[in-house]
Amino acid sequence: MTTVGGVCRSFPDRALARCFPCLSDPARRSSLGLKVTLVMLHLIFVGFLFLFDDDLIEKTKKEPWYIGIYLSLLFVTLVQYFITSSSSPGYVVDVMRVVNETDVIHQKSSVASKQLASSRNGSLIVSVEGSQSGRNFQVSNSSSWTKLVMSMYPPGTSVRSCTCSYCNIEQPPRAKHCHDCDKCVLQFDHHCVWLGTCVGRDNHCKFWWYICEETALCLWTGILYITFLKANISRAWWKDAIMIILLVALSISILFLLLLLLFHSYLVLTNQTTYELVRRRRIPYLRRIPERVFPFSKGVCRNLSDFCCVRSSIYSLESLPSPEEVEEKSRPYTCFDVLTCRCC
Ligand SMILES: [Zn+2]
Ligand SMILES: [Zn+2]
Repeated sequence: MTTVGGVCRSFPDRALARCFPCLSDPARRSSLGLKVTLVMLHLIFVGFLFLFDDDLIEKTKKEPWYIGIYLSLLFVTLVQYFITSSSSPGYVVDVMRVVNETDVIHQKSSVASKQLASSRNGSLIVSVEGSQSGRNFQVSNSSSWTKLVMSMYPPGTSVRSCTCSYCNIEQPPRAKHCHDCDKCVLQFDHHCVWLGTCVGRDNHCKFWWYICEETALCLWTGILYITFLKANISRAWWKDAIMIILLVALSISILFLLLLLLFHSYLVLTNQTTYELVRRRRIPYLRRIPERVFPFSKGVCRNLSDFCCVRSSIYSLESLPSPEEVEEKSRPYTCFDVLTCRCC
């Protein structure tokens, strides 16, 4: 017997509650159920259009390319949804493993080259191998990740303040523990209940493309609905009623998607995450940075290219900016800055 909101819930009640999916309850958030619901919603909105709109069927016969492009967009949107929902947002534990393994391989090859060199020349030669990132991976095996993470914070930062109390691993800047995934996520943006996964460093680009395609699809579907309702054809009233109800639901979705797309485009151009924007005052290393300064921004063009191309690399972990860099970023814009495209 459990108590929920002061009401005792018996075993049959709990079993019954589990049968119905609920977005706010992680235990009842069926990943498969959400995916089926999303596909069904798409099929309902497009299906009613083809079921009721005779003009559209006629148009399909005359101009098959028009409906061909529309159905291709529907297919691409659904594929993008499944790709995004099955992608990893970039878990800290995975990158930590790669960094530690890289360090072990480096140490083994370093020991082997030393032994080979000393057996040939009778003297010890210390080989120096530069890492691709320029970061210092040549540290002891047990603390390589810790040292790498701590090098991203200002000197004097304690290891304890950067350690996740749930995973017990050091979080690089911009990482956050997700309670739904029960893992620390790199460049944590938010946990998306519709996707059933987190949006983070490695799948933010996929997520942006998904909402872009979904917005385009909803807009096109909305135009087809309006065209159907405006046509002067005598038909049953209930068909119009169903289409108006669906159009209202579609309009709400379009408004939400457009705002979401604009918001995430702004985040991409300024190299921020939803979590950093919303909880800026609660993130210790962002508290001291002035409000209008975007500490991780490298200019619009570079932010855009990083977002599209290099985020999935383990070497794209971002350090906190030094006080000099913050001061430089907080400098007010002058006419010369505008001419030289400082923001780009
Ligand atoms: Zn964690
Ligand atoms: Zn999550």
